[in-house]
Amino acid sequence: MSLPKDGLPAEQVLEEIRALRAADRPTHGGRLFAYVYDPGLDGLDDLAMAAYALSAHVNGLDPTAFPSLLAMENSLVGAAAQLLGGGPDVVGNVTSGGTESLMLAVKAARDGARGVERPRLVVPVTGHAAFAKAAQYLGVALDLVPVSPSTLRPAAADIAAAIGPDTVLVACSAPSYAHGVVDPVAEIAAVSAAAGVRCHVDACFGGWTLPYLRRLGVEVPPFDFAVPGVTSISVDLHKYAYTPKGVSVLLHRDAELRRPQYFAYAGWPGYSMVNPVISSTRSGGPIAAAYAVLRHIGDSGYLALASRTLAAVRELAAAVSAVDGLRLIAPPESTVVCFTTDAFDIFVLADELAARGWHTQPQFAYGELPPSIHLSVTASVAPRVAEFGPDLAAAADAARAAGPVALPEISLDRPLPELLGALGFDSGLPERMAPVNALLNAAPPHMREALLVDFLGHLQRPAL
Ligand SMILES: *Cc1c(COP(=O)(O)O)cnc(C)c1O
Repeated sequence: MSLPKDGLPAEQVLEEIRALRAADRPTHGGRLFAYVYDPGLDGLDDLAMAAYALSAHVNGLDPTAFPSLLAMENSLVGAAAQLLGGGPDVVGNVTSGGTESLMLAVKAARDGARGVERPRLVVPVTGHAAFAKAAQYLGVALDLVPVSPSTLRPAAADIAAAIGPDTVLVACSAPSYAHGVVDPVAEIAAVSAAAGVRCHVDACFGGWTLPYLRRLGVEVPPFDFAVPGVTSISVDLHKYAYTPKGVSVLLHRDAELRRPQYFAYAGWPGYSMVNPVISSTRSGGPIAAAYAVLRHIGDSGYLALASRTLAAVRELAAAVSAVDGLRLIAPPESTVVCFTTDAFDIFVLADELAARGWHTQPQFAYGELPPSIHLSVTASVAPRVAEFGPDLAAAADAARAAGPVALPEISLDRPLPELLGALGFDSGLPERMAPVNALLNAAPPHMREALLVDFLGHLQRPAL
């Protein structure tokens, strides 16, 4: 924008933002199955925003200048450690999100390993993409371990075989984001420990629900610090702790393991810098908001939210199984429902669901795994869930009647403007995403990556 010559009245500026927000997907109301995590609790947003405002200008750069932030961060870490079986030696930090937690787990492992010149990271292919990002940013080689196409879990023997003298970290998921499947953490941690290698459990998605699901009687395999050999765990508070965005926790079994996570530098004429996380200046807003949300919801509140979520998961899974031609990719064991079909086009189905007000997350084919639809289920879905079954059945009928989408007659290596025109992006997002998804799904991953980078680069241009 060009700055307005004279500043605008506050109400006018807010009105502009409200008008922009109208194009967004609904963050509340239980019809969006990705990106947002909504407990559906009245008043929680107001509380979180009030707490955020109290600390928005506080800077985590120096905890001695702002002890309030140190105290709240230590409280969040303490709550996470207690929930995840941490003993008295467990330490941790608040990061800006799951990706940062994983990057720092990899950094700590890389810099904590002595005498390894070409560090390597072992991860099942179902591990979050952020591990690949961490590997790329940190100059660590990535060794991907396959999973069984039926259980979607890696075999511990394959993990063991992938560990070599340069492996600095083994990672696994509890559960994986894509399918909601919990890896065999105990076996993976055992083979890691036997090789003298750190083992990180990525519980970004499930760390705040699995302990409560277990208390509700769900069979949850051991995945936390109770498992010998687990050296670090990540859990995103901005997912199932239902805090505003920008808060994840990275825990280490002891302070010695955490030490190489820090960056310290005194070799310049300014202040000596010591940072536990990637950011240096760090707003107190997200941390204060998270502190308020955790204290307000409380243990019994999270148990009740998990109970509502579990009921919604079961009802959604039953609705999927009831539709001819649809099948669950894995039995739901956490808060993900993931399904596929051989009977019609899954991307057309996603469009048909969107047309009925349900926003799902399509996932592309990978190796032997078919394309699928992912639902991250939160407590806010529960009051809506009875409406999902009939809409899913109707969407499936419509997808079956429409037939498979015709692949657009254009190759992905055409110049971007030509491609966007052929795909109907001339004036904003096309109404139907199935042709775009079908084309991306058919493309090899490296081509998909290049195209998406170009597309985002095309969108992200200065506006005047
Ligand atoms: C969401 C998620 C991440 C990445 O977290 P961000 O907060 O999006 O950076 C990593 N691992 C798992 C399992 C996740 O669900």
